[in-house]
Order: sequence, then C-alpha cells, then structure tokens
Amino acid sequence: MSGPGMPPLVWHPDYTITLARGRRFPMSKYGYLRAALVRRGMMPESGGYLAPAPAGLHRIARVHEIGYVERVFDDRLTPEELRAIGLGSSAQIARRSRLACAGTLLAARLALEHGLACNLAGGSHHAGPLRGAGYCVFNDVAFAARSLLDEGMVRRILVVDLDVHQGDGTARIFEGDGDVTTFSLHAEANYPREKARSSLDIGLPDATGDTAYLDTLSRALERLLAGPRPSIVFYNAGADPVAEDRIGRLALSRAGLAARDRMVLTRMRAAGLPVVTVLGGGYGHDPEEVAERHVLLIEAARDTAAA
Ligand SMILES: [Zn+2]
Repeated sequence: MSGPGMPPLVWHPDYTITLARGRRFPMSKYGYLRAALVRRGMMPESGGYLAPAPAGLHRIARVHEIGYVERVFDDRLTPEELRAIGLGSSAQIARRSRLACAGTLLAARLALEHGLACNLAGGSHHAGPLRGAGYCVFNDVAFAARSLLDEGMVRRILVVDLDVHQGDGTARIFEGDGDVTTFSLHAEANYPREKARSSLDIGLPDATGDTAYLDTLSRALERLLAGPRPSIVFYNAGADPVAEDRIGRLALSRAGLAARDRMVLTRMRAAGLPVVTVLGGGYGHDPEEVAERHVLLIEAARDTAAA
C-alpha cells in the first residue's frame, strides 16, 4: 500500500503512454506526479500503490453506447470521433482508458472501506453516452458510479466536479437519474460551448480569483450537504482553474487551489462521507509543473486522512 499516513493510492505504470507528436495533452504528467510523490516521501520508490486491471467491455457499455465502446476496443473510431477526442488513435489509448475506469472503481471501493482514496488519473468527464470528447475516451467516474450502483454497494452518489470545464459528459450520462447528483463549478465561457444540465451548475466569469471562487464553492457544498445523503462522493479535482493554466480562463492561485481541495475533503469527511478523488485536467507547456499542481490534492488527501 501507500506510505505511512497516506490514503490508498491507485496508479498504473501505463497511465502514461506516448502520444503522437503534436498532441497537446500533457500525458506524461501521470508519471511526473508519481515521481513528485516519491520525492516527497509520500510514495515509496517502488510500489506503494494499487494497480487496476483494464475494465471490460460490457461494464463500460453500462455508461456508453456499446457500438462506441466496441469501436474504441477495436481501435476503429471514425475520423469524427477521433477529432472530438483529440488524442489520436492507438491500442494503447484504448487500454489506458480502460485502466483509468478500473482505477477509479478500485479507488471508490477503497474509499468505501477507508473513507478516502485517490486514483492518480481519471476525471474524463467530457465522455458522454454516445462518444468521447475533449481528451476523454471513457467516463471513469460514471463507470465507477454505475458499477457500484449495479452491485448494490451504494444507494446514492454525489459527483463534485471542480475541473474548470463543465462536466458535460457526466451530466448527460446521469441526466434524470435520481440516484446520482452531479455538481459542476466551471468557467462559463470555457469548453464545452454547448453545456449539458447537471443537477447543479455554476458557471463563473473569466478571471474569477480565490475569494470569489472559494465563497461560491463553500455555499454550494453547504447546499449539497443539506440535500439527500450520498453513500459516496466522487471528487474531480481538475487542476486547471489556476491562473497559469494554458486553457483555464480562471485566476486561482496555487494557495487557492490547495484551499479548494482541503475545503472539499474536510467538509465531506466531517459529514462522514467516503470520498474518492480523481485528477481531472491541468494544462501547461511543462508537464512537471502541471504534476506539481496535482500534488496539492494528494497532500490535502494525506492531511485529511490523518486528521
Ligand atoms: Zn478541464
């Protein structure tokens, strides 16, 4: 398992794959994140994580149309489908997407057992019922949520999606599903242009800073916690609301991002709710810098788990 005092961490060496040249997604951030955690003594040099096995076709088809899932598995997506996703095409990408789904489900099971667990990938929230989009092939959070509900492990789920982009895929997958509450706090003017309807959407103006962001979040969490009690919370801790993000549009500081993660984790844990975290987005020319932003989440998880 992970280092002393750490919540369970889920990771896989194949979370990082090589994309074709010219692809702008910082795929190497997953490897840099692990290295950064090792440097800080939060993971041992070797091991220190639980590794998932790739998710199977039929389980994934509980949240995506089966024809789409088959085309991903067989590496025969149409040019339009590939363009919408933006990662290019390879058997590696398909396998990695299956690993991320299984990783979030594994982390969710660990969260039910230990109160808090982190998948060091995941948050592919633009993947909707019929297709992938915006660097997202399969929606790992929807996959894990659906799996737990199907198994009867949980009765009600809350998704707190603080990635700077709207969680449109997750919202569409669970629209009208009374068992899943979806909350998205995002930059209104950002991708996707056409928004879906989450249970609760808050679209922020460009350049929103720490104070306004954290006030809005605090009120939203209060409102959610006053609603029906979930069995588990999925937290998409996208690191793209910071000012230095290449495509974020908001203006949080690093300290503001850290305060955000701590607020979500402490409030949910204080309410006795199990929490599973996924990384979500984070964009920059230097993948090591992006990985450092994700470290803030794991530090917050460590401190919350120890409290
Ligand atoms: Zn994002």
